[in-house]
Amino acid sequence: MTSFEVMVHCQKYNFAPLSKHKFLATGPNPMTLTIVDHPLVQHKLSLMRDKTTPTNQFRQLLREISHLIAYEVTRDLPLELSDIETPMRSMQAPVLAGKKLALVSILRAGNGLLDGVLELIPSARVGFVGLYRDEETLQPVQYYFKVPDDLQNRVVIAVDPMLATGNSSVAAIDLLKQAGACNIKFLCLLAAPEGIARMQEAHPDVDITTAAVDECLSDIGYILPGLGDAGDRMFGTK
Ligand code: URA
Repeated sequence: MTSFEVMVHCQKYNFAPLSKHKFLATGPNPMTLTIVDHPLVQHKLSLMRDKTTPTNQFRQLLREISHLIAYEVTRDLPLELSDIETPMRSMQAPVLAGKKLALVSILRAGNGLLDGVLELIPSARVGFVGLYRDEETLQPVQYYFKVPDDLQNRVVIAVDPMLATGNSSVAAIDLLKQAGACNIKFLCLLAAPEGIARMQEAHPDVDITTAAVDECLSDIGYILPGLGDAGDRMFGTK
């Protein structure tokens, strides 16, 4: 258990260990950050980072990894006991305690993570948030928003593989909160320190789960070393 430090523009953000893989940001905005450093996740992520990995393999790896990180993001879901009969006798067996889930994909790259998470939680409701970046203002602009209408009663897991500047993630979560969501988790594959800091400032109540925290952002907002444009690599576009 060691503490964890994120540097953004010479400002230091400290994370204290809560467990081996879970960290709590110290200071006024105490969000938690979980890094899924399981060897299978790290191995698959390295294959995804490799620029020679073709589209079909990239998509397959993302699907596999999304199962493993979904396992972690759902770790705290409450259980309750239900009376069942096994072929041998009756027992009280743990089942998920009626907490309803909604998965929200931040388009378009979010869809790659969504598919895998949905395989693990097939009864979850699904929403989509579409944002594009205005080339002049560099700010995210909404072009699509469709979510279940009872978000206030659900644990909402927002998914986007890349937490880079954090601008679109913060904007998506703003929209989800405006729509009533009050229990939101953010699931990504790679996070940049800048994106974590931005989320921590804007939405400290939203816990982040990621497979890795990379070094920094490039001057055009790509994660370094990263894996390139997740959408392009996933869909074979340029
Ligand atoms: N979005 C991507 O797809 N890749 C990055 O590195 C940053 C944002």
